[in-house]
Amino acid sequence: RPVLQVSSVDKIYGNGTVALKGADLTVKQGEFVSLLGPSGCGKSTLLRIMAGLGQVTTGNVRWWEQDYGVVGSRGRKLAFVFQNATLMPWARVRKNVRLPLDLEHAGKSEDVEQKIDDALGMVGLKGFDNSFPRELSGGMQMRASIARAMVTEPNLLLMDEPFGALDEMTRNKLNDDVLKLWKEKGWTIVFVTHSVYEAVYLSSRVVVMAARPGRIVDDIAIEESYPRS
Ligand code: ADP
Ligand code: ADP
Repeated sequence: RPVLQVSSVDKIYGNGTVALKGADLTVKQGEFVSLLGPSGCGKSTLLRIMAGLGQVTTGNVRWWEQDYGVVGSRGRKLAFVFQNATLMPWARVRKNVRLPLDLEHAGKSEDVEQKIDDALGMVGLKGFDNSFPRELSGGMQMRASIARAMVTEPNLLLMDEPFGALDEMTRNKLNDDVLKLWKEKGWTIVFVTHSVYEAVYLSSRVVVMAARPGRIVDDIAIEESYPRS
């Protein structure tokens, strides 16, 4: 079942930059897709369009076989992790991670507290509930941003080079955690990377893009038998 369908999408920015040309991509339920390619090839542009954060110039995008209006309804939750941590500076870590649950009016039940604890645990931030973002390292702020996306248990998780700014140990740990979550929860994930290693290690499918003029040039299924830790 397709979760996301990008059909014949061109994106030309206001200054004339052609960022996408004829992009076609269908993401099915449960796939873990990486968008791989050199800097400037249009990965972020495509991901933002997939999130409904950017408009197409021509072409069409559908979510769960409908228009964007369906996003947010039952079983059709979408979460986006930006390239940089985007935390509210005036709010403590726990409150930052709680934000999407508050927006969903999830209430104050113990279930909510448990979800927040789980999300913080996943990214190794247990015990940092009461810190302010500025008190955390850049990597920890990024992990808090990832926890905020995960706390909603999204059906479609879109991540724009989420591990790019992290040290290698944190990155490897998060890679393994995301892989584990993907297997356990059956989420559909699309993430941007320029690391071939990350693409092959993490994803079930690698979509390769080339710069000028932002085309998808290859689409590779990673063998299920690929040895994963
Ligand atoms: P759109 O065509 O989607 O409306 P715009 O061309 O108006 O996009 O640009 C949106 C924003 O991105 C503007 O604030 C602009 O300054 C900024 N921007 C312009 N060029 C670049 C670039 N090369 N990379 C990233 N951001 C850019
Ligand atoms: P990637 O994520 O692969 O690095 P991007 O999608 O950020 O690529 O950018 C694709 C192309 O579009 C680049 O040439 C970039 O400079 C340009 N670009 C990105 N955002 C904007 C914008 N808002 N306005 C104008 N040009 C942009």
